[in-house]
Amino acid sequence: MDLPKLNFRTIEWLFFFTAAISVVLIIWQYWGMNQTVDIYPAPDAIISAGGDIINGGHSESTLVDTDDAAKLHCQIIPSNTFAFCTLNISIATNSSNGIDLSQFDHLSLWLEHQSSSQDTLLIYLVNREVNRSLSNVIHNKSNMQVILPSSTSSLYRLPLSNFSVPSWWILQNKATGTKAQSNLSNVTSLSIATGDSHLKRSVDITLYKAQLSGKWLSSHVLYLALLICWITMIFMLASYRLYQLNTNINLKHKQTEELTEINHLLRIEKDKFETLAKTDLLTGIANRAGTRDILQKLQNSPADTCSLIMFDIDHFKKINDSYGHKVGDEALCNLAQLIKKTIRETDHFARWGGEEFLILCPNATSKSAMTIANNLRIKVSEADLIPQQTITCSFGVAESKMKGQHSITALFEGADLAMYNAKKHGRNRVEVQYEI
Ligand code: GH3
Ligand code: MG
Ligand code: MG
Repeated sequence: MDLPKLNFRTIEWLFFFTAAISVVLIIWQYWGMNQTVDIYPAPDAIISAGGDIINGGHSESTLVDTDDAAKLHCQIIPSNTFAFCTLNISIATNSSNGIDLSQFDHLSLWLEHQSSSQDTLLIYLVNREVNRSLSNVIHNKSNMQVILPSSTSSLYRLPLSNFSVPSWWILQNKATGTKAQSNLSNVTSLSIATGDSHLKRSVDITLYKAQLSGKWLSSHVLYLALLICWITMIFMLASYRLYQLNTNINLKHKQTEELTEINHLLRIEKDKFETLAKTDLLTGIANRAGTRDILQKLQNSPADTCSLIMFDIDHFKKINDSYGHKVGDEALCNLAQLIKKTIRETDHFARWGGEEFLILCPNATSKSAMTIANNLRIKVSEADLIPQQTITCSFGVAESKMKGQHSITALFEGADLAMYNAKKHGRNRVEVQYEI
């Protein structure tokens, strides 16, 4: 399967957009993404007044709930129980289910407090929970925070993380460990109670508004989501890069194999053309170019002497003229085949041009070269190279000590001169040139 090609620009843009979106989300989360829930005033909020009367106390409280405020008037009368008054707002959706405050950060209260003596206010969030150690009995855990109220209407912004379980509740319920820790997962009511003062006093608490606020996406959830997004992106990019690298390596490998194959074929072709260039097409033996290679090899070889036999067909022009060029070619081919199979393997046979041939005999003296030439002369004259007539050749022999280019030139000049003498002295004979 081919993956779409990603160039560097696409990747740059992808990272740029992800970074931009991340920054926007972080800023948005910090400045925005706010959610609020009104506890009071709220259509289904049930508001009530309470006090120490439930413990046998004598404090009296009255509640006036108008459209825009809930007013609690309280006469705190000390007795042998702790004297207090309380303003309760039910925030349960039904009798047993409260609301989970984990998605909120703050509880905001707009209230006014009048008291005949200085006092604090105790803010309670009551959480309904199941006591598993007491046969699943449902009980209400108090989570409390203390404020020092002012006598004018003020806003109190209480962080939910600052709520803790009061000592009287821990003592009453013998709570230890996690049971003594605050829990706001199922809050059923908000209570605003008078403080710890033991003095007889008159207290007025006016609540204008109670509101929960928070972010609909908490910072740690956002950062986790962004982290997962970045890790996924980097992982996918790394995987893609790895895949691309692997594909490229395979492609390069294939290309190298193809090039090696092409090189091999080209080398074969080159060798073929080289051989063709050094071979005489008519006779199949070496031509002048082929001879040059042989001479080079001879110069580099340890042979210290070398003889050259040059020979030329006698009156070949007449053969062509009498029987045609085709018969002339046939004579040339047959002569080449005869010489080739007669000479030693160490000797080099080549067509020098036209109807002129040469045989290079390394390590052979002119005497032995003359013997070879004479044998060949007899063989040629006795062979039926063409059916129409006997063919003869004139041979020239020369010997040279192999010492550089000079000796090769002298060798050729000597053999050529000897062949010329053979022609001059009547043809079908062997002549030797001793002094080179
Ligand atoms: P000489 O005895 O003095 O060597 O006489 P010649 O006739 O052999 O020499 P000459 O140089 O006058 O003629 C050589 C002839 O060889 C001329 C040319 O047409 C012929 N010849 C050269 N190459 C070829 C070839 O490849 N095929 C054929 N059929 N003839 C060739
Ligand atoms: Mg000739
Ligand atoms: Mg000739």
